[in-house]
Amino acid sequence: MSVALAAAPAPFLEEIACYGCGGRRGRPFIQAQDDLTGKPGTFQFVTCDACGLTYQNPRVSLEHIKDFYDEEYIAHRKTNWGILNQAFDRAMNQLDAAKDGLVSRYVSLDRTSEAVYVARGVDSPYFGVLYDIYHSAVEGEDIEAELTNAGSIIKYVQLADAPGRGEPGTGDLDWPATLAVLRGSGYDGPIGLEYYPQAASEESVRYIRDVAAQA
Ligand SMILES: [Zn+2]
Repeated sequence: MSVALAAAPAPFLEEIACYGCGGRRGRPFIQAQDDLTGKPGTFQFVTCDACGLTYQNPRVSLEHIKDFYDEEYIAHRKTNWGILNQAFDRAMNQLDAAKDGLVSRYVSLDRTSEAVYVARGVDSPYFGVLYDIYHSAVEGEDIEAELTNAGSIIKYVQLADAPGRGEPGTGDLDWPATLAVLRGSGYDGPIGLEYYPQAASEESVRYIRDVAAQA
């Protein structure tokens, strides 16, 4: 006898092992809400008993994470609430000003080499540099020189073309050359595609995968 099994729906939250050591025991660190999406829900962060890493657990499962990046996500939000727009914009500007007030109490680092310098000083496996090819290009940096200097301190890379911050191919960057430089630097981690799409996402993802495969 054969029985057709429907796939069980993925849980919204899933318990995970520590990213650092695989440990399963942790103590509560903080419970917090997500102010970027305004989605209801309280999320818990724990600190691993074995290695001290603090991370979200349980986390939102991969199947459900996209629910948080809809049009209500603050970076995607289009205000089209008629007469309420003004009030919304005023509130958001106040929030931005308050955040700027906090951030301006600290030193702002706008060169890759400065971030690399700090990360080397911290010298922790949990602290690295997010290298954003778009920002680096806009700042006029020499990408090859920055990647060579940074070495393995870079833990994550994001990209968009410049100018315009669209998908690769919409600006002036030479993507085969840039991704060859990235690969040559030894980086083999994930690349985040962080751009304002001007074509179907499937197309731009296919393009960047092809270029990356040949780099
Ligand atoms: Zn751990």
